[in-house]
Amino acid sequence: MTTALITGANKGLGKETARLLVEAGLTVWLGARDEARGRAAAEELGARFVQLDVTDDASVAAALATVEEAGTGLDVLVNNAGIARRSPADPRAEAMEGPDVLAVFDTNVVGIVRVTQAALPLLERSANPVVVNVSSALGSFWATHEPSRPASRFPAIVYGSSKAAVSMLTVQYANARPGIRFNAVEPGITATELGGGSPGSHPGRPASESARVVARLALTGPDGPTGTFQEDAGELGW
Ligand code: NAP
Repeated sequence: MTTALITGANKGLGKETARLLVEAGLTVWLGARDEARGRAAAEELGARFVQLDVTDDASVAAALATVEEAGTGLDVLVNNAGIARRSPADPRAEAMEGPDVLAVFDTNVVGIVRVTQAALPLLERSANPVVVNVSSALGSFWATHEPSRPASRFPAIVYGSSKAAVSMLTVQYANARPGIRFNAVEPGITATELGGGSPGSHPGRPASESARVVARLALTGPDGPTGTFQEDAGELGW
C-alpha cells in the first residue's frame, strides 16, 4: 500500500490532489494547519487528517511522528502549502514589508525544508520514495523571460523569488538524495484563493484540473524523472 502526505490540503490544489490520490488507491494523510477545516476535508475525501503547520517546527515534528506511529509508512510527500501576500493598500500589488516577505519565504521555502527533513527518515524506508514540490512558473527564469508565457507579464517579486528558491531546493535535494525522486511542478493558473481571480490575474482553471499534473508526479514510478520541473505538457525550463 502506498502512502502520501500532502501539506496545505484542506482546500485548493492540495485538496484536489488528495482527492486524486485517494481515488488512485493511496492512503492519504491530509495535512492542514487548521484542525476543523482539515478534518472536514479528510472526512469528505476518505483521507486521514494530520495537523501540520509548515512554519512551526513542533507541528511538523508531531505530524511526522503521527504518521510514523500509525505504521502506514510514507512513500510520497507533496509539499503543496504556499502563500502570497497582497498589499492592504493595493490588492493588485504584493505586500513588500519585511515581515510579509519573511512570512512568504517561511511558508514557501523554509516550510519545504522543515517538512522534507522531518519526512526523510520515513521516505528512506520506502521502496519507491517521491517528493513533489508545488512551485510556479513565476519562479522559472525561463518562463519569466519568455514573452509568450503569462509569467513574463505578471509581477511577483516576492512570490516568484520564493518559487525560484523552490526550484533550487528541488535540484539540490535530488542531487543529495539520489534514492528519492524530487520534482517541482507548475500546476497552471488555477482558480483558488491564492491563484486566479486575484485582481489583474487570469481567472484560472479549476483546481481539480490543475491537480492532475501534481498527482501524475506524485505517482511517478521508480523509472520516473528526478530533479526536473514539470507542467501539463512535460518539462518546463528552470
Ligand atoms: P490555496 O487554495 O490558497 O491553498 C493554499 C493551502 O496552503 C491552504 O490549504 C492553506 O491553508 C495552506 N497553507 C498556507 N500556509 C500554511 C502553513 N503555514 N502551514 C500549512 N498549510 C498552509 O492556494 P492553491 O492555489 O491551492 O496553492 C497551492 C500551491 O500551489 C501553493 O504552493 C501555490 O504557490 C501553488 N501554485 C498555485 C497556483 C494558482 O494559480 N493557484 C499557480 C502556481 C502554483 P489555510 O486554509 O489554513 O490557509
